[in-house]
Amino acid sequence: MSLSLSVYHMLPHVGRTMAVNLQGWMFRRGRYGPETERLVAEAVERETWSEGQWKKWKEERLARVLHRAATRVPFYREQWAKRRAAGDRASWEYLENWPVLEKQPLRHDSRAFVADDCNIGKMVAEHTSGSTGSYLRLWRSEETVRMWYSIFEARARKWYGVSRDDRWAIMGGRLVAPAAQTKPPFWVFNRPLKQLYMSSFHLSPELIPHYVQAWKDYRIEYVISYPSNLETIGRWILQNGDSGLKFKALIVNAEPLEAYQREIIEKAFQCPVRETYGMSEIVAAASECEAGTLHMWPEAGWMEVLENGQPAQSGELICTGLLNADMPLVRYRVGDRATFPKHERQCSCGRTLPAVLSIDGRNDDAIWLPNGRRIGRLDAIFKRYLPVDEAQVIQDSPQQVTLKYVPGPQFRAGVDEAAVYKRMLEFIGGMKIVLEKVPSIPRGANSKFRAIVCKLTPEELRAVKERAGSMSLAGPMK
Ligand SMILES: [Zn+2]
Repeated sequence: MSLSLSVYHMLPHVGRTMAVNLQGWMFRRGRYGPETERLVAEAVERETWSEGQWKKWKEERLARVLHRAATRVPFYREQWAKRRAAGDRASWEYLENWPVLEKQPLRHDSRAFVADDCNIGKMVAEHTSGSTGSYLRLWRSEETVRMWYSIFEARARKWYGVSRDDRWAIMGGRLVAPAAQTKPPFWVFNRPLKQLYMSSFHLSPELIPHYVQAWKDYRIEYVISYPSNLETIGRWILQNGDSGLKFKALIVNAEPLEAYQREIIEKAFQCPVRETYGMSEIVAAASECEAGTLHMWPEAGWMEVLENGQPAQSGELICTGLLNADMPLVRYRVGDRATFPKHERQCSCGRTLPAVLSIDGRNDDAIWLPNGRRIGRLDAIFKRYLPVDEAQVIQDSPQQVTLKYVPGPQFRAGVDEAAVYKRMLEFIGGMKIVLEKVPSIPRGANSKFRAIVCKLTPEELRAVKERAGSMSLAGPMK
């Protein structure tokens, strides 16, 4: 269904609900079929495969994807033809012979990435704006869509004791109610998907009680949300007493979950919060098991972690999609960073899916210290509870950072200001620190919260990274 956003917002709430339900019905038909239960069972069975079974499966799948990309996908076929014409004899059977794929060519001509034996008109199209607000068009077959949703069902629902038949709420980047609207509903119930889609654009402190009430009215069993949204509501609950909410699970995505956020959310909701990782391009995915390990989903893609172009324990995620062989993305720079464990250990949950220690957020969102050290997460700074509702650290120049913060109700000017400053100094010492009290932190593209914003120019960034490259690799500060 293509219903433009401007038309959607002209509709009354009942009209919007009808439009969303029609779309939901089509989504459900596309995502789930008679084979779904079997696919879910197979995904669960693969969770305890031996290392050897996975190795064989992944290598076969990778070989198939690379062969298909080099022979049937116009973008890669041209790339290899040019290399051959220039006398390059490298084999495309080896992943390391493929260059890293940036987002730009994909954005520029996404159709050139679809295999030429596919009928694009029969494929499921996804138009998405990525985390940086850039526009992407992606295509996949219905078979791939159903496979993807079966793995999602197994590892992002079944692990948490919920299923697609339970009523759930999602708080995401879609503007489901006009931005200027000041009265509820800021949500719309999608009956075919049993999904209450809630706007995260309207989540201001005075409107939070409406959200809490809607969860009760719609008898919501679990919530999928950005961690920052649940943190905001969690702080409100902690200040206002028992919310009476009883969720089975809270599942977060799209932003890294900081340790202090987990603490606030679990305390407020009295319910475990589970981290998941993925992106529209479906070249990588991971979810957290009940033992707290973030397990990768090997079916989604082949993950490499590179730092300065070399394999590393902590660095940039470079992924080759294994699931969508009709629009293969080979060695695609996702834009996020990750840290792998030093040694693979058997998880107490019994699953053998490989672990990723942490997803460390966007590659370009980091603070670079004068000594070349990179801070990509804020756990360390906000580990001890500070009476601050929200904070954003901005690197203005190589020598200066600004901390924008929203003081909580218990915030004492003077004492807590000094505490915040001291905490910042411990981690970002040697730089000028500016504290700026603000009423709220503006959200970025897709209404996502950015905890760290780097405003260094490409030249400044290059200089500081060169300094970092000359030092030994430091793990993330945790
Ligand atoms: Zn586990």
